[in-house]
Amino acid sequence: MKCILAKPRGFCAGVERAILTVEKSIKKFGKPVYVKHEIVHNRFVIDSLRKIGTVFTEDLSDVPEGSVVVFSAHGVSKDVYDKAKKLHLKVIDATCPIVESVHKSAIQYANLGYSIVLIGHQRHAEIDGTLGQLPPGRMHLVSSVEDIQKLPADEKNIAYLTQTTLSTEETAAIISALKEKYPNIQGSKTGNVCYATTNRQSAVRSICQKIDLLLIVGSQNSSNSNRLKELGEEQGVKSILIDSVEDLNKDIFIGVNTVGISSGASAPEHLVLGIIDWLKEHLNLEEVIEEQTTEEKTKFPLPAELN
Ligand code: SF4
Repeated sequence: MKCILAKPRGFCAGVERAILTVEKSIKKFGKPVYVKHEIVHNRFVIDSLRKIGTVFTEDLSDVPEGSVVVFSAHGVSKDVYDKAKKLHLKVIDATCPIVESVHKSAIQYANLGYSIVLIGHQRHAEIDGTLGQLPPGRMHLVSSVEDIQKLPADEKNIAYLTQTTLSTEETAAIISALKEKYPNIQGSKTGNVCYATTNRQSAVRSICQKIDLLLIVGSQNSSNSNRLKELGEEQGVKSILIDSVEDLNKDIFIGVNTVGISSGASAPEHLVLGIIDWLKEHLNLEEVIEEQTTEEKTKFPLPAELN
């Protein structure tokens, strides 16, 4: 059997920064350090940070007054900031700078009096954070082309923003439908889908013609990992989202000559390497080829409190 590894895969700059932020916070301020929401959506990352003294919580009321709290890479609403202030918490904000720029755009459009359409998935942490930059009901959330029918018919000043981890193709279709309904709508051509999401999707797309099975390493609640799995399926390839080697069994590989592997932006590389070792041991994997579609050099500096 042969294996093709899609590249880029795995950690993006926002995830690297968020994990390092928690580790450095523990070093600087001592444990425990509290984190609002999962710092990134990956079970293994969460477990390893728990072991070194991180406490994850959804509710800041659980955090003792004066403690250090890190906000996750997905960003938080203004209410969460206000609550942290009221509780006298020391906030270290690990919101990805790309998500932060979406927040700023939402506020700018609102200040200019625009109606705002936010393209994204309901109840995802990033969407809750972006919606929460403005008073409730100020943004229209749409998740599909069909949702656009429910928007008001005539909006003169209207703009759109998107979640950063969406399918590039689906986002393009929604933007195009929005432009049809509102020819003057403002927004970036490809939305706010980030470089890492775009690159991982392109890398998977490029290997799909050569593989019989696609394994995406990532947790079930990871948006960008789910989009990679869906992309494989759209290309006609059997695609499975797995957390780690523990989810594998030999039956999955019946009739498979070439397996493709990629990983979501929150999945550590050691999980991919574990799968390759398993394939070598159990299925006589003979060849591993890495296919790189683009080089990534993006790095984000740590939050100022840690410098
Ligand atoms: S996936 Fe994109 S937006 Fe999300 S943390 Fe990574 S770089 Fe930032």
